[in-house]
Formats: sequence, C-alpha cells, structure tokens
Amino acid sequence: MSPILTDRIPVEIWQRILRFAIHVPVFFETDPTVVYGASAFPTYCDDRQYWDMERERNAFQRVCFSWYSYLRAFDHRLVYISDVLHGVVPAESLRRAYRIYISMCKRQCRKCRKADSHEGWTVPAPRSGRRETWNLEILEMDAEWDILIEYLSRHNRLANLGALIRRNHQHNTKLESICSLRFYYGLRGNEMQHLNNITTLQLQSVEWLRSHSLPQLRHLSIYLHTAALPEFVTWLQDHGYRLLTLYCQGIFSKFDVTPSIWLLCPEATALQLPPTFKWIPPPSSHPITHLRLDLALRLNLEEEACSYCGTAHPGVMEFPVLSVEEFIDSGICQAAFNDSWSWMVRGFSVPTDILCLVAILRMHGVLLVDKDHLTIEDYWVAELEVARWGIRDYTNVLFGF
Ligand SMILES: [Zn+2]
Ligand SMILES: [Zn+2]
Repeated sequence: MSPILTDRIPVEIWQRILRFAIHVPVFFETDPTVVYGASAFPTYCDDRQYWDMERERNAFQRVCFSWYSYLRAFDHRLVYISDVLHGVVPAESLRRAYRIYISMCKRQCRKCRKADSHEGWTVPAPRSGRRETWNLEILEMDAEWDILIEYLSRHNRLANLGALIRRNHQHNTKLESICSLRFYYGLRGNEMQHLNNITTLQLQSVEWLRSHSLPQLRHLSIYLHTAALPEFVTWLQDHGYRLLTLYCQGIFSKFDVTPSIWLLCPEATALQLPPTFKWIPPPSSHPITHLRLDLALRLNLEEEACSYCGTAHPGVMEFPVLSVEEFIDSGICQAAFNDSWSWMVRGFSVPTDILCLVAILRMHGVLLVDKDHLTIEDYWVAELEVARWGIRDYTNVLFGF
C-alpha cells in the first residue's frame, strides 16, 4: 500500500522555520567571537537588528492563530530596564528575557533618575514559590544600580549568564564573583572567580592575568602602562600562541617585544599596536588580516602635493608606526584606525587627505575602517539614516574591541 500523501507540513517543521526566520545572529550569542570570529565585535551591542526582527515576528503572528500562539513565546527576548520602569513592559518579562539592558532612558526622565539614585526603584518581587532559573544569558550595563545587581544575584537567576558587558566603573563586583562567564567586558575583570570558560576578555590588570589560568582565552583587549609592559610580554611568551585577537592599548615610552609580535602571536588575525611599536613586517605565512593603529594629523607646512589627487591638503593623516607604502607591502588587507569616522571627518581644524588615503589604500586592496570596523561608505549610510529617520547613532559598540 502506498503511503498517504498530504500537502500539510508537520507543525514541528513550521516551528523550526519560524525560529529560523526570527533568529538574530550575533546579538543573542553568549560567545559571539567563537561562533562568528572577531568580526562579531562591531554588531554585538547593536540592537537595531533585534528590532528589525521583532517587526518580522509581529508580521508572522498575524498570519494565523497557531503562528500567533507559537511566536508569543518569543516575546521580550530583549528587555530594557527603562521600559520596565516606565511601565511599558511588565516586570515579569525579566524572567523570560535572554538579554537585559540596564540604563536610564535617553530622556533621563524622573522615574529613571529616581532609580539611578536608588530612591524610586521598586524591584518586582518574585512570586512565592517561584525560584526558577531565568533565561538571562547576556547582561549589558550602562548604569550601576546596586539594588538591581543584588536582586539579579538572588535565587540562581543568573545561572545561564554567559556574557557581561559593563561600561561604567563598577564598585559592586558581585556579578563578576558569582557568574561563570564566557564573554566579559569591564574594568574589574580581576574580581572574576570562574574562569575556565572565558574566551573573550577586556581588562587592565596584568598581575591578575599572570596569576590565573585562562585555558579558553582567544580574544584579549588590554590597557597597559609602560611599567606593566615587561610583565605582559612575559605573559605573551607563554600564552600569546593561543590568541586570535590582541588589542593592546595604553601609554608606552617604547613598545619593544621580543621575539617579534608575529612569533608571540602566530595565530592572531586581528591586532592593535600602540604608536611606539617598532615596525617589523609580518612573515608571509602569518594569518593577520586586520591591523589597528593610531592615525595622526601632520600639518602639511611644505605644501607637498597629494600622490592621489595632486592638491596640497593642509593636513595629512599618517600612521606613526609605519608608512602607507609599508602597510601596503605588508599584505594585511584591512587597516583600522583607533577612532571613529565622525572624528576623522569632522574632528580636525584643517581639511585633511583622509578620503585620498582611503582611495590609495583601496587601489592596493587595503580597506580602511574605523574602530567600529566600518568603512567610510558604512559611515555615510549611517549618518544619512540618523538624519532621515532620527535613529540613534551607530557608534555604541564595545570601545575596547
Ligand atoms: Zn526614563
Ligand atoms: Zn588628495
């Protein structure tokens, strides 16, 4: 007997398709760089992709009742604390959120200001007997509210937390001490207790780095002073071979690394080097593709003609570490500067040759991007969107990575 043919697709298949259709890549990963590589950094804190997908989800919910019922389970994947304070989103949604953003609203309204000063924050009490673990996997903080940190830390609510982003100076480090994180961005990573899963780390303390084993660490952004450099180089000699990303920032009188940075970090595909770095080209076998450097202004007092357009630009943008020709000869395909395009385009008192530099590098197959990994075209599009739609500025990403 032949099987009965049907034109109905099983519910499980539809649900899988719908889940795929509302998936937001990068934004909901607790370990974005392991899944997507270092290219995930620029979009990890960009919530526009989430809101775009929420509009899609709302459209799907209007198709039929079964889709509506299924997709309701994905309400409030991202919750803004300010929306809870304003009463727009129910406090109960905190339990269901996969990502929570803690900040005052842009208007800094009275309710948010009161919460910021701990006057008006009434934490939603857990229902009696409800002590289940929350869905929360990613916590992003632009405000430091102790009472909220204490609330989140109770009843195993943070058992699933894998990524913690804290942009302000944190005096309460309870989150660092209790959570087993994979992604940490903050100033006081040295308070962390559970380190075996850490893959991505931003911190300032070399002493702490040397005294802990970080077997999974692959992406490191570190801020150093000259005095800490020898200790950091010693650490690199033992652990640099595992790094895929190293962003090294700070103030150095001299940045001497022995043996060369290419031998210390043989697998690194993204590097940031300080202006005092003594340039040595990478060997042709090295996998480096992205090099971030300072880009500094030199006044063109001799009125030299630009090699691209022939005019004498009043200001010339230069990498202090190496010449444009040396960069092109290095074979590295992406040059990054440690600033934003808005500063590069508008920040100087004299017109510069920045657009000619973009063109010269591009002629030789090198893409110039800013610290957010955006090209000049990306920047212009973002500026037009801000002007046309009034949406927020694009540059709200991890400034250390
Ligand atoms: Zn508010
Ligand atoms: Zn020019």
